[in-house]
Amino acid sequence: MVNRTHLWCDLCDRRSIANMTIVPSELRIVSYPHPILRGKAMPIESITDEVRAVAQRMIDLMHMAEGVGLAAPQVAMPWRMFVTSVPDPPDGDRVYINPRLEFTIPELVVHEEGCLSIPGINVDIRRPAGVRVTATDLEGNEFTLEDDDFRARVWQHEFDHLNGILIIDKMMPMDRLANRRAIRDLEAAGSA
Ligand SMILES: [Zn+2]
Repeated sequence: MVNRTHLWCDLCDRRSIANMTIVPSELRIVSYPHPILRGKAMPIESITDEVRAVAQRMIDLMHMAEGVGLAAPQVAMPWRMFVTSVPDPPDGDRVYINPRLEFTIPELVVHEEGCLSIPGINVDIRRPAGVRVTATDLEGNEFTLEDDDFRARVWQHEFDHLNGILIIDKMMPMDRLANRRAIRDLEAAGSA
C-alpha cells in the first residue's frame, strides 16, 4: 500500500522497505518541520484492517488535540487520507480516502486557521468559498459532499497536507512577519 520506491524520510523509507507492521497506537501527531509534512502522499490502494486502524487512531488523536481535522502525513503516514469532525453544525467523525476536490465557489474568503502540526500559529488564510469533495469511506463506498462554510475550509486545509502544503505557505505578509520568530523557533526545535 505504501509505495516502496517513494523515499520520504528515514522513518518512512525504513517502514516501506521493510514492510514494517504499523502499530496504530504508537502513531503521534508530528510537528513542523518534520519532512513528511512536505511530501506528496500516495493513494491508498486497498482499504485493509491496517488502514481502518490508522483512521481510527487519527480520529482519536484529532479529538485528544481538540482539532477538527487531521491528515495522514500528520501522523507520519504518507497516505492520501484525512479525517474530520466539524462541530458546528455537528458532522460526526468522517474519513476521506483518496479525496478529490472541486471548487464550486472560486471566490476567495478569509478565515483564521491553525494546524495541529504547527502549534501556536494561527493565521488568516484565503481560500475558495465553496468546495465539493469526493472520497472513499472505510467501507469502500465513494461519497460526495458539498459545503460553502467551515467544512469547505477544513477539507481544503487537510487536502493541502496530502500535497505537502502548510498554512505557513499560504499566510499573508503581515502574518508572515508576525510569526517569523515562532516559525524559526519551531524549525530550531525540529533540528535540535
Ligand atoms: Zn494542518
